Amino acid sequence: MIEFTQEELSLMDRLSVVGGWDDPAATDIRRKITRYLREKGIAFCCYCRVSMHGWHNWTIDPEHVLPKSIYPKQTFKLMNLNIACKRCNMGIKRADDSFFLGTRDCAEPFKSELYKIIHPNLDEPNDHLHVKIEQSNNTYIRKYWVINNSAKGKETYEYFRLSELEIQSVDVAQELPSVTPDLPAAVADDLNAALKQQ
Ligand SMILES: [Zn+2]
Repeated sequence: MIEFTQEELSLMDRLSVVGGWDDPAATDIRRKITRYLREKGIAFCCYCRVSMHGWHNWTIDPEHVLPKSIYPKQTFKLMNLNIACKRCNMGIKRADDSFFLGTRDCAEPFKSELYKIIHPNLDEPNDHLHVKIEQSNNTYIRKYWVINNSAKGKETYEYFRLSELEIQSVDVAQELPSVTPDLPAAVADDLNAALKQQ
């Protein structure tokens, strides 16, 4: 497990005040953060949960949940970082922070209740939204499933326009990875039963 030395953590604090994420002095630490996120076992986009297994490091963007342009102090906070695909990161979310209920100078921004969407580090995504990839007749169909009427699940589904991925999955079936996230058996059975009814 990758750990950060005190020296690196101090550098991260300094860079978040002066220099920022793209500062040349941050190059090594950015690489280390990417490795850290990957070694945590993160292999999915933290929002749409499309698999990123086998992607090259350079195509994976460390994602700032609170945008670094608006919340510079959170730029290097590991709690604010995860991995997102380009569709969710650059195509949809960009520098928007409408999902955040705190203030822009909020001293303690890392509380689940301050986020309308599922926070990939503060929330357990599967408590709110499941994703399942079903195969039938060589076609993969991605389905999202809001759990227990979760407001965060619904908001995440709408904010990231996940219905588009369900529709697209029929068209780009062959390119989709055959990944089925681990689900509790009871939930998987419910999903399978529901999918069969459609
Ligand atoms: Zn995504």
